[in-house]
Amino acid sequence: MRAYGVSFRDVESLVDSCSDRVAPAAMTGSGSGVRERALMLEAIGSVPNVEWLSGNGIDVSDGVLVDGDLRCRAYEGVFAAGDVARYSCACAKRATSRAELWGSAVTSGDAAGSSVVDFLGGRARRKSLSHIHLATTEVFGLRVQTMGNVASSDTSEVAVGDVDDLESGVLMRFYASCELVGVVCVAPGGELTQRFQKEAAALQQKCR
Ligand SMILES: Cc1cc2nc3c(=O)[nH]c(=O)nc-3n(C[C@H](O)[C@H](O)[C@H](O)COP(=O)(O)OP(=O)(O)OC[C@H]3O[C@@H](n4cnc5c(N)ncnc54)[C@H](O)[C@@H]3O)c2cc1C
Repeated sequence: MRAYGVSFRDVESLVDSCSDRVAPAAMTGSGSGVRERALMLEAIGSVPNVEWLSGNGIDVSDGVLVDGDLRCRAYEGVFAAGDVARYSCACAKRATSRAELWGSAVTSGDAAGSSVVDFLGGRARRKSLSHIHLATTEVFGLRVQTMGNVASSDTSEVAVGDVDDLESGVLMRFYASCELVGVVCVAPGGELTQRFQKEAAALQQKCR
């Protein structure tokens, strides 16, 4: 990343404490130690819009807590799917989390739809949510592949490579309470893809 002029900064070091906004100095380069930037990308995560649901006994501490059928147990007739829904993933049954991925929005929306039909007394084929989060993207020729629920992990190990040398390829395993919950691979082009697929297959097998 450094070779492409990309550097990572923690948000706190860039925020003006008086206004709670990114300090202009950080963007123009007039501040100490910050060089001029062509682009600054702020990546602070997303905050679900759930305030309107609070006060009804529904757990909205991070999205809407739902069960495997996307039903809100605390309030009959309430369902949630997509980014806003928090549920347990097949890889990390003890932890609940939101999955901010298109694939998860589609799968959970489908499952929530069949639960709504069921709730209304209709007949719908029950859709299983035994789905494992999988995402792939590419940054500067490095393919990033992730599977599982890395956010729920408490420890990790490097299976291949060195995290300070992503260009040579790195494969990591992530664990929660000593249980494998995710694998991540960062490598140029298709390198390490076969190895990632092998690790991902083992994770899938474990989650069945
Ligand atoms: C920059 C960016 C890049 C992404 N890239 C990828 C990617 O490469 N691959 C991938 O898998 N996923 C990606 N995602 C995530 C993906 O877009 C989301 O997981 C997906 O869109 C979630 O769908 P959703 O229907 O749950 O929520 P959304 O698409 O967020 O739709 C929710 C809708 O509800 C509306 N809304 C909110 N509150 C209320 C309210 N109170 N009343 C009425 N309407 C309301 C919102 O305005 C919005 O239109 C990306 C997301 C972002 C932001």
